[in-house]
Amino acid sequence: MNDLRELYQEVILDHSRNPRNFGRLEGANHEAQGNNPLCGDQITLFVRTEDGVVTDISFEGAGCAISTASASMMTEALKGRSIEDAQKIFEQFHGMVTGDPLRESQNAQNLGKLSVFAGVREFPVRVKCASLAWHTFKAAIEESVEPVSTE
Ligand code: ZN
Repeated sequence: MNDLRELYQEVILDHSRNPRNFGRLEGANHEAQGNNPLCGDQITLFVRTEDGVVTDISFEGAGCAISTASASMMTEALKGRSIEDAQKIFEQFHGMVTGDPLRESQNAQNLGKLSVFAGVREFPVRVKCASLAWHTFKAAIEESVEPVSTE
């Protein structure tokens, strides 16, 4: 587990121990479940949108520090954003953690705090942990009826 130590930066530890926006959201009009069977991460995401804006967002679930911190930081990053902006942030985040060279260069500065997850691209299993909440968000917004799996 030594190679993972540098991933567990302070901000990730903080969010994994004290996840923000944790718990069921009353009045959510979008909901989706995500699973990462490789690690055992599970998440249920609740989103309330109004006039194309993410007015509130929360999550429940259990998982590793990376998946919990990623979900927590995602809810902070997306609350108050338009759905259009949220989808752009999703694309940027996904490009960063998967190391997509076409999208990588312009990403880090746009993502702010979320750039702490850039290190996961070295660890394919952890990429799934870090991106689970984001795929689940996308599914919630698109109102997919199928549960999300990273498999
Ligand atoms: Zn995980």
